[in-house]
Amino acid sequence: MPLSSSSPRFIFSARSKLTVAQALSNHRWVRGLRGSLSNVAMVQCFQLWDELQLSNLSQEPDTIRWKASSDGNFSVSSAYDLFFMARESCPYGELIWQAGAPSKIRFFLWLVAKGRMGWPHEDCCHLCGREHEDCHHLFVSCNFTNRVWRLMRAWINIVFPLPGQNDCNITDWWIEARRCFRTGYRKIFDSVFMLTCWLIWKERNARIFDQKMCSPDQLVEDIKEEIMVWKTTAVFKDCNSTANL
Ligand SMILES: [Zn+2]
Repeated sequence: MPLSSSSPRFIFSARSKLTVAQALSNHRWVRGLRGSLSNVAMVQCFQLWDELQLSNLSQEPDTIRWKASSDGNFSVSSAYDLFFMARESCPYGELIWQAGAPSKIRFFLWLVAKGRMGWPHEDCCHLCGREHEDCHHLFVSCNFTNRVWRLMRAWINIVFPLPGQNDCNITDWWIEARRCFRTGYRKIFDSVFMLTCWLIWKERNARIFDQKMCSPDQLVEDIKEEIMVWKTTAVFKDCNSTANL
């Protein structure tokens, strides 16, 4: 099936006339993305990437298969079960979805928390240049990330564990760290946590796709600036005080 760049449905794709098989080969569809992705496009991109991890093309003719049934045939009971499956509970879901942060960042954190950041991993982390890049490394064990959080902790002036310090995953660390704050400040920390992860992710992308890089100190200055923007635009909703933040 050709992907036509002339169609408004493919406005972010620079590669025209690719078949699906060609687009999937070595993730050519990702390399063909162009322009600045909108929030909606970014969310769809993450979702599509996740979906494609589970797909395998074969030489057989296309058929329609209902994924919710083991035999591939649609049934009302399977659709009913699917409805309740969609309500799968996530222990961190409420914190993420109710946090004071733009929706694209909350969705991003949801993928990170679920370990479903299916973006193509680099052989070597572009932030520290030392280890293989994966979701856990990028947001927990990377030296660059650790340095950013060390600087953030010094600025916030509250003692909380650093990511990777207690050998736990990112969500366990987040929960442990937020407990170090008084109740009225925890939602602010949630926002700062999300923003910091988001800007670390953007720094990673800037290094790979734009050949631009900044130091942990510069990134922390960017985080502080963005926090000020969030304060003035009331992103920190329902918080008792923003204190030093
Ligand atoms: Zn690293």
